[in-house]
Amino acid sequence: MFWSRFFLPTLKEAPAEAEVVSHKLMIRAGMIRKLTSGVYNYLPYGLMAINKVCAVVREEMNRAGAVELFMPTVQPADLWRESGRWEHYGKELLRFTDRHQRECCLGPTHEEVITDLVRREVRSYRQLPLNLYQIQTKFRDEIRPRFGLMRGREFLMKDGYSFDRDTSGADKSYQAMYEAYAQSFTRLGLRFRVVEADSGAIGGKFSHEFMVLAQTGEDVIAACSACSYAANLERAEVMPSGRKAADKVSLLEEISTPGAHTVEEVCAFLDIAAKDLLKTVLFKADGRTVAALVRGDREVNEVKIKNHLNASVLELLNPEEVLTVSGAPAGFAGPAGLKADHLLADYELAEKNDWIAGGNKADTHVRHLDLQRDAGVKTYMDLRLVTEEDPCPRCGGRLELPRGIEVGHVFKLGTKYSEAMKAVYLDENGAEKTIVMGTYGIGMSRVVAACIEQNHDADGMILPPAIAPFEVHLLALDGSALDKATELHDWIRRNTGLEVLLDDREERPGVKFKDADLLGAPMQILLGAKSLGRGVVEVKNRRNGAREEWPIENFAAAFTAWKDKILHEWKI
Ligand code: ATP
Ligand code: MG
Repeated sequence: MFWSRFFLPTLKEAPAEAEVVSHKLMIRAGMIRKLTSGVYNYLPYGLMAINKVCAVVREEMNRAGAVELFMPTVQPADLWRESGRWEHYGKELLRFTDRHQRECCLGPTHEEVITDLVRREVRSYRQLPLNLYQIQTKFRDEIRPRFGLMRGREFLMKDGYSFDRDTSGADKSYQAMYEAYAQSFTRLGLRFRVVEADSGAIGGKFSHEFMVLAQTGEDVIAACSACSYAANLERAEVMPSGRKAADKVSLLEEISTPGAHTVEEVCAFLDIAAKDLLKTVLFKADGRTVAALVRGDREVNEVKIKNHLNASVLELLNPEEVLTVSGAPAGFAGPAGLKADHLLADYELAEKNDWIAGGNKADTHVRHLDLQRDAGVKTYMDLRLVTEEDPCPRCGGRLELPRGIEVGHVFKLGTKYSEAMKAVYLDENGAEKTIVMGTYGIGMSRVVAACIEQNHDADGMILPPAIAPFEVHLLALDGSALDKATELHDWIRRNTGLEVLLDDREERPGVKFKDADLLGAPMQILLGAKSLGRGVVEVKNRRNGAREEWPIENFAAAFTAWKDKILHEWKI
């Protein structure tokens, strides 16, 4: 490809709104341009990278026995009513009405559409198992679209769905997809970790997320340094320590804490550590009030509350509601005498029976609080976010909490959709059975952003050959080098199967060097009048900056060996 005929608008500076490296670099490297919030044009250089990701994922899907189809973006509300998600999906689902007053939405995912398709076509056990996927544009009206392609509103997803006769078949399909995902991300040169995840609003029983490890990731992973345990922070379990509280406690006593609302303020006022304070966080779960009790230095894990109560919506109480439930302004709620429907205490609180907590009265706390005696707490549960001080729930080893970017997700759905939408088949004996499903997604556009988060330096991107639009960037540093450069460009394309970008612009060498580093092709070839005069060609390995010089008549052999070495270096 000749740069002068390509559409590759590079920029020296990224717009101020770009916060993370991948977003900045994708704009500067002419890969994407914003149309409106969370919605981007994919320019040729960006599209080529995404297409390479698609090619690898397609190969692995097909190898694992999945079959590609393509479903519509616009979906009828009726299908979503059948599954129950028209009510439950929330505002991420962009809904609209057509000219005939039919309600529709833009597909954020395709469980309903595919289940509808399959229930109409599949009759017999002979037609199962079935594994169907597509690579298609999704729309989710994200509350906070950001970081460019990382969290867009419109984005490209590979979504796949498996249909099996029974759970053991569904387990096999799940395993095959899990392996195909691991294989795809490995081939794409990403450093990732597979973690146990919560199944969330999509419903289902069991899921794993594929996390690309990166500082800028929105997710936190709890990963054991000793065994293979790894879980999404939301999901990560905290085990009870088994330590028991001492027996003796004095009677509950009020203490005046004027103006001390927050944990910090109360601790400063009473001169105690946050771990000695009991924190009461008030929620509403599907309309019922919930008080979650944790140590002052801990964070409540809302997913654990939701799962425990099987609630679909969990929200913090607003100040008026806090007043009704606790009888005090926000900041003074405590477990003793609280009018909440559920009182949930974290395991850790059983280790002590002499707590300081809110007094359910303005400017008041209490001390010597015994949760059983004074608040009638009977059950203690895992209620909080895990920390680096907690042991691994499997082996007791040391936990680390690295950040990650979720690039893929595999779910066992069971019969959630097939039951609601009546997707059934007849078994060998003519008995009607419900199809068992799985759902599998990869954020294709997010993969490219995640790859850049992992592979860059101060000068620009350092793309793995598996994702680089052009593996070779050939710089013709002046007009007189153009003929020779064209010859090399043609030779490489004919003989190696690599893609080459030839910078044939009338620009200063400095500009071309900078752009080459920015665009991040793994191999650079530099050709100018000076080096040609000496009969040599210079090359640079973008990843480690290593340069070599070869006599031009040796180019074919030297290049072949060099590119093999670089491609090999990128294998992980
Ligand atoms: P997240 O927690 O990041 O919102 P999710 O759990 O909603 O992700 P899924 O519904 O499992 O995501 O979608 C499958 C894949 O699609 C995700 O693993 C992710 O890679 C990608 N994805 C999801 N939302 C977005 C988005 N807004 N922009 C880009 N990619 C996305
Ligand atoms: Mg989401």
